[in-house]
Amino acid sequence: MAPLTIKLLGTGNAFLPQGRLHSLLLIEGRALIDCPPTALASLRHSCISPSDIDTILFTHWHGDHCFGFPFILLERKYISDRDGDKILNVHLPGGGIERLRVLCDLAYPNSLDESMNKVRFDEREDGEVNGMPGWEFERFPVLHDEEVDPHGYLLKHESGFLLLHTGDSGPCEAIASRAGACDVVVIELGVPEYVDTPYHFSPSKLTTLANDCPATTFLVTHTWLDDPACERPAILTDELPDLPVNCVHASDGQSWDWDGSALISN
Ligand SMILES: [Zn+2]
Repeated sequence: MAPLTIKLLGTGNAFLPQGRLHSLLLIEGRALIDCPPTALASLRHSCISPSDIDTILFTHWHGDHCFGFPFILLERKYISDRDGDKILNVHLPGGGIERLRVLCDLAYPNSLDESMNKVRFDEREDGEVNGMPGWEFERFPVLHDEEVDPHGYLLKHESGFLLLHTGDSGPCEAIASRAGACDVVVIELGVPEYVDTPYHFSPSKLTTLANDCPATTFLVTHTWLDDPACERPAILTDELPDLPVNCVHASDGQSWDWDGSALISN
């Protein structure tokens, strides 16, 4: 099989640690999980045109996961898809269309009405991924602030490759019951050990899950840790925690190929 490529365009949590844009996963160069405020910057850094994005799958409605959407629509309208030839498919939890409409209205009143009307929204909870032949999805509730309708995605390629994206979530049965069967889990590491919240993973909580799923590779994103490669002074700390060997604490721009049996760092 041709290798499947996944890339973390951004790896930071809401507070933008040094050297990181907001967490953003790109699948096969054409599908995004979420659309954070820094999405357009991330695409520019990787020389990917917004019009090359066929599909966006939203996990939940916190600003660091969706506030970049108006900018993507605006860029496509005026720069990369002026003729409106490209279809944008959006998978999202029920009720999300109205949230995006309000967001686009606030950002650019009237300018995005036509763009919004052309987006192919889909609120199904599972099935084929629109715009991504060979991929199926299941969207499932996770443990995060209920106000933002939090979900994760299980994505299955026809080759059998299983990829789970937790969205924002603390440890929960929905993740624990699926992670062990997955080849790759893209997981948030939202908070340090001293922040007491059920809504995010901390290093010790991730360690427990990763040790319970030794055959799964965990790509760690949405992190509070400054990137050790960044020369600017750290905001909190750039000393990465010790994590199990099946965890990769990712950096912006890092990508991997799945060759049918193993994940290879590019
Ligand atoms: Zn969140």
